[in-house]
Amino acid sequence: MNASKLGIELVEGSFKQEYGFTLDQVSGLYQSACIPCGVFRRQLLNKMSNDLGVDKLATGHNLDDEIQSFLMSFAKADFRRFSKFGPKLDRIHPNLIPRIKPLWKLSEKDVGMWAVMNNVDVHFAECPYSHTSLRSKVKNYLNQLEGKRKGTKLSILESFSKTFKFEKKEINIGQCKLCNEPSSLNICKACEMVEDIKNRIK
Ligand code: SF4
Ligand SMILES: [Zn+2]
Repeated sequence: MNASKLGIELVEGSFKQEYGFTLDQVSGLYQSACIPCGVFRRQLLNKMSNDLGVDKLATGHNLDDEIQSFLMSFAKADFRRFSKFGPKLDRIHPNLIPRIKPLWKLSEKDVGMWAVMNNVDVHFAECPYSHTSLRSKVKNYLNQLEGKRKGTKLSILESFSKTFKFEKKEINIGQCKLCNEPSSLNICKACEMVEDIKNRIK
């Protein structure tokens, strides 16, 4: 509905269509439904972007999403993920469509208020699986902090931006032998998971 109002073609994809199962069917196989959701969503978005021939993939990540991701990577010392921080990612492989995040400095609350004030038809229901993720705990913690001290979230974002160097160096990415999607391993995570799922739900 929003797409047609704006005169934009809506292209939809689904796990069922692409991989043969829904998230509901496989969510219980993992510690959190976000594990398969993240792997398949990232791959499907990239595949569809390539099929459409676009040169950028804009996502709705906002300030809250960014600092949650950063804090989670920080807590796990997962420095490789630091390069995914920021409003614009570089092209590091010919078939990996670079992401842009136009909303990365706007809080989730502000984005929601803007949508309401501009009569954009959106729903505010949370994903039913969100409570299974570490992200939701980090989110609640950050909301508590922001409630006690307004501006904390933006300060965290600025601290990260100023403190860390996000080197966009070339990393060795090849392509998956099964699906040809970009991958640093011979078989990508999505194909590995599909095999695992097929064995577990047959
Ligand atoms: S919260 Fe829901 S939509 Fe988000 S990654 Fe987890 S399962 Fe997917
Ligand atoms: Zn693959």
